[in-house]
Amino acid sequence: MNERVGLGFDVHRLEEGRPCILGGVTIDHPTGPAGHSDGDAVLHAIIDALTGAAGLDDVGTMFPDTDETWKGADSARLLEAVVERVGDAGFQIGNVDVVIATEGPRIAPMRASMRERIGALLRVDAGAINVKGKTLEGLGALAEGRGVAVQAICLLRESG
Ligand code: MG
Repeated sequence: MNERVGLGFDVHRLEEGRPCILGGVTIDHPTGPAGHSDGDAVLHAIIDALTGAAGLDDVGTMFPDTDETWKGADSARLLEAVVERVGDAGFQIGNVDVVIATEGPRIAPMRASMRERIGALLRVDAGAINVKGKTLEGLGALAEGRGVAVQAICLLRESG
């Protein structure tokens, strides 16, 4: 069976007054990711991992920030559209693993709900999704709480 891996990465600034939506889950936090869409860096990194593995365009090409269509867009809808395209390209999703680097919000209390939500969006069991938080050891802008960086990796299998 043909298997393919894909890697995704995304960074967003965290700004006061923005809703904090990560991994499709709304978190009670004083800052949230800025962006043309809702800024969900976790779902954006997953989109790039999936499209990378499937040989499709990346998130910025599919949903350009110059297009008013995607202004304030719910990234869950973008991910669902990508899952559709990955299926059309002849792939099934094996698993997805995510690292979220930030000094806040705290990821550990949100892990279970993120896994459930991402699994539902990808139409796979939550057991095929993993999410881990990582702090920055006091180094740089991310450690000052000014942003969130996300890495995602996925495995796809050719269907049939
Ligand atoms: Mg992004």
